[in-house]
Amino acid sequence: MLTADRVKQRARELGADVCGIGDIRYFADEVPEKDPKMILPSAACVIGCAFRIPNGLFECMAEKRQYVNYLSLGPKFVDEQLAEIFLLRMAAFLENDGWDACVQRRVTNLKAKGDKTQNPEVMDTYELVHAVPVSPDKPAPEVMIDFARAAKACGIGTEGLSGSILTRRFGPRARFVFIITNAPLECDAPMTENLCDGCGACADACPGHAIGAEGRDTWQCSVYYRGAHEGNPYLPDGFLEGDPERERILRGEERFDADSARGMYAKLRFMPDNEGYVPCLCGRACDSACWHHLKEAGKLDV
Ligand code: SF4
Ligand code: SF4
Repeated sequence: MLTADRVKQRARELGADVCGIGDIRYFADEVPEKDPKMILPSAACVIGCAFRIPNGLFECMAEKRQYVNYLSLGPKFVDEQLAEIFLLRMAAFLENDGWDACVQRRVTNLKAKGDKTQNPEVMDTYELVHAVPVSPDKPAPEVMIDFARAAKACGIGTEGLSGSILTRRFGPRARFVFIITNAPLECDAPMTENLCDGCGACADACPGHAIGAEGRDTWQCSVYYRGAHEGNPYLPDGFLEGDPERERILRGEERFDADSARGMYAKLRFMPDNEGYVPCLCGRACDSACWHHLKEAGKLDV
């Protein structure tokens, strides 16, 4: 008989660092466009797994020694390769036992209709503006679950002010995948502790002042993630030469919306991209500041 312990053991064998199982009832008030039951109507639970991103990749960016390995082994490899192989093998494990497994990896370059945010990690995103429901009882495709809410439901993480999902083991230095299944597994308690204490270290660390009381402005972030700031070691002398706003931009004082951010992207090509992922030239300073804060506050299980 398939049990929660067997599922978690298999997840660990296949490379997950953290695994939790969330009761589908936790999503009872979710909007249809993000509801796991709109993906698998017979769903009984959501299995959530986290994969660590090595601390060393963040630390060498913080010291401006190396960026290229975070680009390929941080967001890209975990979300694109590791997650896919892991999810397919977990799905086979569940389906061999007779259950359905709807595997969910992070959708990097698509935005649901009405979602006007950006993903700073990729070259650009596409909003599914033409999506329409095929019947009155269905939401418009694509249904995409809220990863932060799912992590909380599975008891493995909570969203911080920075917008990153914080875990007890890795703080914000982890990536997530989920499996919606009708396997009747014993569920974990949702995470009630809020790891984010509102310290503001993430906001102070961001060179683009992209984090405020309302969270992270993803368009502002997308400009400074690509390196439009004084701390970018690849900045050429002639960068933005003749632009009257050059100094304000470099100091992170200029504000960018979707149009003005996209207008900057072509000027922010300091390193080659990696199959649609852009180099992280802010060093993920927000997440590093958060990790050190959580560690010093004794909130990490390390
Ligand atoms: S530090 Fe980087 S990733 Fe974090 S909010 Fe600022 S620009 Fe975005
Ligand atoms: S740095 Fe502080 S405010 Fe920002 S996400 Fe982490 S705990 Fe929350």
